[in-house]
Amino acid sequence: MEERGTWVNSQGVSSIKCPSCGLSKKSAVGAFKGKGHKLTIYCACGTTFQSQLDFRRAHRKQVKLTGFYSCSETRKFWNYMFIRDLSLTGIGFKTVNRCDLQPGDTLKLMFTLDDSQATVVEKEAMVVHANDEKVGCEFANSYITDDILGRYLVPE
Ligand SMILES: [Zn+2]
Repeated sequence: MEERGTWVNSQGVSSIKCPSCGLSKKSAVGAFKGKGHKLTIYCACGTTFQSQLDFRRAHRKQVKLTGFYSCSETRKFWNYMFIRDLSLTGIGFKTVNRCDLQPGDTLKLMFTLDDSQATVVEKEAMVVHANDEKVGCEFANSYITDDILGRYLVPE
C-alpha cells in the first residue's frame, strides 16, 4: 500500500491526493490531531492508500530572506521582496515600494533559503492580502510534500 505525507494547514484542512488516479480532496482533518495521524483512505477509483497527516508543519517561521516576485502577466519583470515569514502553505513579504497587487493575483516567487545549501526555491503563489508594501500569499500546491522547505521550517 502506498503511503504519502500530507500537510495540514493552520485551519486543520488537508488536501489528500490519491496516488493512483490523482483525485485530490480538501478535507477538514483537525479532529485527528493528537490521535492517529495515519489514515487509510479508500478512493472512488478503488485504490486504498495510507496518508500520514503532518500537523507540525503549518508552523509559520519568522525569517529575514530576500527574493524576487513577478506577476504572471508580466513575467519578464522581477521585483525585489523582503520575506518576513514563511510556512509550507504561504509566505509574507514586503515590497520595496507600495505595490499594486490585489487579492487573487498569481505570482511567481523565487528566493534563496539561508540553509547550508543556500537552496533556491521557486513557487507559484496567490495573493491573499496586500496592504501598501505588505503582502501575504498562499502557495499553489501548498499541501504537497515539500521536503526541503519542511526541513528548513522544522529542523529534524
Ligand atoms: Zn483514486
